[in-house]
Amino acid sequence: MKVIRTIRELREELASRRALGQGPVGFVPTMGYLHEGHGSLMKRAREQSGTVVLSIFVNPIQFGPGEDFETYPRDEARDLAFAESQGVDIAFLPDVAEMYPQPTKTKVAVSELTSLLCGASRPGHFDGVTTVVNKLFNIVKPDFAFFGMKDAQQVAVIEQMVRDLNMDVRIVPCPIVREGDGLALSSRNVYLKPEEREQALVLSRSLKTASELLGNGSLRTAGDARQLLREIISEAPMADIDYADVLTFPELTVLADDAEITGVDSMVIMALAVRFGKTRLIDNALFQPKEGISHV
Ligand code: AMP
Repeated sequence: MKVIRTIRELREELASRRALGQGPVGFVPTMGYLHEGHGSLMKRAREQSGTVVLSIFVNPIQFGPGEDFETYPRDEARDLAFAESQGVDIAFLPDVAEMYPQPTKTKVAVSELTSLLCGASRPGHFDGVTTVVNKLFNIVKPDFAFFGMKDAQQVAVIEQMVRDLNMDVRIVPCPIVREGDGLALSSRNVYLKPEEREQALVLSRSLKTASELLGNGSLRTAGDARQLLREIISEAPMADIDYADVLTFPELTVLADDAEITGVDSMVIMALAVRFGKTRLIDNALFQPKEGISHV
C-alpha cells in the first residue's frame, strides 16, 4: 500500500496506474479512526476495483463552532495497518494546508435535502461535506465511490449532487455495520462512557422493534412509528433526542403523522440522532413498504 500526502503525487500515481490498465478506481473517503464499518466499504471497493483509494482527512469545514474537530479521534499508524489489511492500494492522507491552501471561496451546496435532520442540527455541515467530496472526486477521479448507509442523509445528498452536476462517478451505498449488540459502529463511539455505551443500545433497539412491527402490520402510521421510537429511546435516562423522524428515502420528504407507511411508493427511512452526554449518535433503518422488508 502506498501512503501519499500530496495531491500532485496522488494524481501522478493514479495516472500511471490508469496507464497500466489498473482500473477501475474505487474510492472510500473517510475521516479515519477506522473500524469495521469503514472496512466493509474497503472490501466492497476491493471487489469491484482494480485500484482502491482510501482517503483519511478530518475536514475542518464540515464541523461547526463548538463541535469536535480538534478532539476528533485520530490514530494514523493503526489506520494504515488496518487499511493495508483490507486491500487498499493507496492511502491518501492530506493535511489541512494541502486541501485548503487558502480559505475556500467556492462551496458546493445541495438545497432542501440538507435543511432537515442533521442539516438542521448542524448548520453548514453538509456544505462542508459536499465541498470536500467534490474536491476529493476532482483529485481522485474515481469510477466508484463507496459510502455507508450509517450516514443515510449524506448518501441522499451526495447522490443528488452527482446527478445535478453530471459528475462521472457511480455512488455505491453500503449497509450499516453494527456491533454484536446492535450499536452501529462509529469513530465517535470511543467518546461514550460505559454507562452511555450501554444506554446507547436504545437506538438500534427502537429501530429494530419499529421495523418488526411495521413488517407484521401492527405499526401503521408515521406518527405511531415516531411515537414508538421516542418511547423506546426515552427508556434510557441519559438519552437526549435530537430527532426521531420518519421520511421517504432518498427524497427525504417528511411523512405526515397520519400517513400510512405501507401506502408510500418509495422507501421509508426511520432516522435518529440522540445525544448521550457530549456524544451525538446517529442511526437509521430503511423500510420497503411494497415488500414489507426492512434493513436495520
Ligand atoms: P466517517 O469516517 O465517519 O466520515 O465515515 C466514512 C464512511 O464510512 C462514510 O461513508 C460512513 O457512512 C461510513 N461508515 C461509518 N460508520 C459506518 C458503519 N457503521 N457501517 C457502514 N458504513 C459506515
